[in-house]
Amino acid sequence: MPTHAQINVPKLGQVEVPTGLFIDNEWVESSSKETFPTINPATGKHFLEFSHAKQEDVNRAVKSSRKAFKTVWGNNVAATERAALIHKFADLIERDADKIGALESLNSGKGVRIAREFDVGDSVACLRYYAGLADKSHGQTINHFGNEKFVYTLHQPIGVCGQIIPWNYPLMMWAWKVGPALAAGCTIVMKPSELTPLTALVMCDLAKEAGIPAGVINTLPGLGSTTGDAISRHMDIDKVAFTGSVATGRKISIAAAESNLKKVTLELGGKSPSMIFNSADIEEAASWVAMGIWFNSGQDCTASSRLYVQEEIYDSFIHALTAKAKACAIGQPSDEFTSFGPLISETQRDKVLAYIESGRSEGARVITGGQKWEKSNGGYWVEPTILADTNSSMKVVKEEIFGPVISVSKFKTEEEVIDLANDTTYGLGAAVFTNDAGQQTRLSQKIDAGTIWLNQYGILHPSVPFGGFKHSGIGRELGTYGLEAYQQVKAVHQNLTQTM
Ligand code: NAD
Repeated sequence: MPTHAQINVPKLGQVEVPTGLFIDNEWVESSSKETFPTINPATGKHFLEFSHAKQEDVNRAVKSSRKAFKTVWGNNVAATERAALIHKFADLIERDADKIGALESLNSGKGVRIAREFDVGDSVACLRYYAGLADKSHGQTINHFGNEKFVYTLHQPIGVCGQIIPWNYPLMMWAWKVGPALAAGCTIVMKPSELTPLTALVMCDLAKEAGIPAGVINTLPGLGSTTGDAISRHMDIDKVAFTGSVATGRKISIAAAESNLKKVTLELGGKSPSMIFNSADIEEAASWVAMGIWFNSGQDCTASSRLYVQEEIYDSFIHALTAKAKACAIGQPSDEFTSFGPLISETQRDKVLAYIESGRSEGARVITGGQKWEKSNGGYWVEPTILADTNSSMKVVKEEIFGPVISVSKFKTEEEVIDLANDTTYGLGAAVFTNDAGQQTRLSQKIDAGTIWLNQYGILHPSVPFGGFKHSGIGRELGTYGLEAYQQVKAVHQNLTQTM
């Protein structure tokens, strides 16, 4: 199995892309020579065959990352030097944005403009933010001991980090993991999703070109049950950072606990509520909620999947939201105008359609959508869908659908909607639309979620922490919290005069 393949990319023509494992700055085959297939979600046809990393490959990658950590990265390099390399890396990604965006679009099904401007753009911004933060994190001096002793703390990199990421934002989830890890001085064994490994592999050549030393970023395409499990259980990995489903997060926590008690951070699922009060600007709120649920075709951990509307404006809000659903730029990923592409896989498409059916059978009213897009051909589109008159006992309100389906329920009072919003095992995001400042503050305090948006939805920034309450995760990414997740604090006591 060769480590590279030729593919035809719309508007770019024939492009050579990596499909092998990247270990110690070299492309290699899997020790088992096994591969796994990926599918183009817009056609349902075979896309590319990738090498499947097995235990022996994980061992090699960890060995390489450990060596790099001990010799050329971590405490061996000034933070300013790491920052310069991360900036160079970001420059190269920006230089190749057209190609990377096109490849991301092809593998994941998202619109090519969105992939280029948003996914690639935000990934570059994330790397730059962490390059800037690299030399701004230091410990404390604790000098209240007089002549007795002097104490200080060091912020040290955790070490070799396994990073396991999902398919919905393949490059951005890569950047959220790699940026802070590199800035902190950690080395990386990265496992992209088996559905979308392409752009994480493309990043490897750019890392090498930027001058990031061998072993700092090793990348292993593979399945969760093999490559992912081997990373989670590895005895010489110091931390695993994961984004994906709650079920997998649980397995990774158990594997980490059963092996070397490696540190674990988890970014998991969501069932995020939006609450629309009578005082809200209906048109504005509908635009934010529509973006919240239909951006990335609803495949978003913070998708605005539960909507609660105060009863006086219930009908007019549904009317406004329906117009937004009909205006979604549904189309082929290669079309610059497309903002709504196919779902990632046949399984995901069928799961979403089954949820819509379950909503129907439990009494929800399908206002718009509810079916495959008529021009899907072999691809996996499901139309933007509104299910109205839902209630909290319905499956579509309780479970994460991870597709373009929003459930809409009525509420009367503030107290009632706080209870409804918090009636979930998740706690990732929530939005409140109201012009009452007191109400904004009260709800911000009472809703259990890692992010609260007031009169907007879904906007994130590398400097702002992101993560979940309850089953939505453990730890925070982005911001200074995101850097701290790759550091450990060491306290140093220096005896000045104390004798035994
Ligand atoms: P998933 O859990 O199936 O897979 C995520 C990654 O975990 C993949 O790389 C997969 O190969 C790997 N994996 C699977 N089984 C594993 C195992 N036993 N051990 C180790 N690794 C394993 O999730 P998905 O379907 O790729 O992504 C969708 C989910 O991710 C949704 O629930 C969504 O809400 C969540 N998500 C959360 C965030 C966030 O930041 N909170 C962001 C994006 C997606």
